[in-house]
Amino acid sequence: MELQKKHETWFSRVSNAVQTNGTLINKYWAQFFREYDFLVGVSLDGPKEIHDKRRIRNNGRGSYDAVMRGIQHLKNEEVPFNILTVIHEDNVHNAKELMDFYRKQEFTYLQFIPCMDFRSQEVNKAPQYHITPEEYGQFLCDVFDIWYNDGNPNISIRFFENMLAVYLHQTPELCQHREYCPTTLVLEQNGDAFPCDFYIHEDYKIGNVGTDSLEDILNHPILQNFSKLKPSIPEKCQTCPFLKLCNGGCPRNRDRKNPQETEYFCEAYKMIYQYVDKRMQMIANRIKKEQLLHYLNSGYPKPERNQRCLCGSGKKFKKCCQQLL
Ligand code: SF4
Ligand code: SF4
Repeated sequence: MELQKKHETWFSRVSNAVQTNGTLINKYWAQFFREYDFLVGVSLDGPKEIHDKRRIRNNGRGSYDAVMRGIQHLKNEEVPFNILTVIHEDNVHNAKELMDFYRKQEFTYLQFIPCMDFRSQEVNKAPQYHITPEEYGQFLCDVFDIWYNDGNPNISIRFFENMLAVYLHQTPELCQHREYCPTTLVLEQNGDAFPCDFYIHEDYKIGNVGTDSLEDILNHPILQNFSKLKPSIPEKCQTCPFLKLCNGGCPRNRDRKNPQETEYFCEAYKMIYQYVDKRMQMIANRIKKEQLLHYLNSGYPKPERNQRCLCGSGKKFKKCCQQLL
C-alpha cells in the first residue's frame, strides 16, 4: 500500500511537471530515474546546428536546447546516461566534429545508430536507408581513429567495446554482434510484449504482461522461432573472415526476398573490421597481459605450457598468453 502511494506521488509529480514544462526530462523525472536506478538513453545527433536540422518539435523549433536541459537534470541527479546518435546525411561526414563536441561536453558513453526509415509495425516492408554502407563504414573508421587514443581508449563507444569483447573471447552484449538475438522483452504501453523493437507486429506478439505470466511469455513459440532468425545466415557470411565479430548483423537489415543476400551494412562492417584489426588486437593483448600479470602477482601458479590458456581462447598457454610475457 505504501509502495503504491509512493508510486502515485511520483506519477503526479512527473505528469504535472510534463504539463507545465516542455522539457521531456525535468528534475522530477531525473529524481525518479535515480530512485529506481534507470540507465537513460538520450537521443542527440551532435552539436546544435546538426541536431536541430532533423529533430524538430511541434512548435517548429529544434529540440537541442530542451535535450541539453534534460541532460543537465540527469547530471544534477547523477543519473547514468548514454548518448544515442543517429547517423544520417547531416552528420555521417562529421565524425571529428561529433567527437570533439562530445568530448567538450564530457559525454563519455556513446552509441551510434545508422539511420533507417521504417515502421516497426511493418515488419515485411524493407527499410529505406539514409546513408550508404560505405559512408557508415568510413564514419566508423574515422571515429575509431579518435577512440583508439594510442591504445588507451577513454570513451565508451558501444560498437567498439563489443568488438573488443570478441577479441577477448567474450560474448558481446549488443544484439547485432551476437550469434542469436538475445531474449529481450519490448513492452508497449498496453502491456503487449514483443521480442525486439524492430518487430512490433501481431505476428510477433508473445503475450501481454497484464494477462500472461512471465514464464508463458518467455516460452512462447513465436519467441522460439524469432531466435532462429539471426543464425540462418547467408552462405557468404558462413565463410566471412569476420563472422565471429558480426554473426551476419541484424536480420531486419536483410532482404527477405533474397535470403542469400548479406545485410545492408555488410560492406560497412567489413571496412571497419579490416581497418581496426591490428589495433584491436594490440589493445586486447595489453589487457590480457595485464590480467595475466595480476593473476600471477596474486600468488596463483603459472599455467603449464600445454595447459589451456586462461584467457578463454581455447588455445594452449604456450601458443597464447605465454607469448605476451
Ligand atoms: S561482414 Fe558481411 S559477410 Fe561478414 S558476417 Fe557480417 S554481414 Fe556477413
Ligand atoms: S532483430 Fe536485429 S535489432 Fe532485433 S534483436 Fe535481433 S539483431 Fe537486435
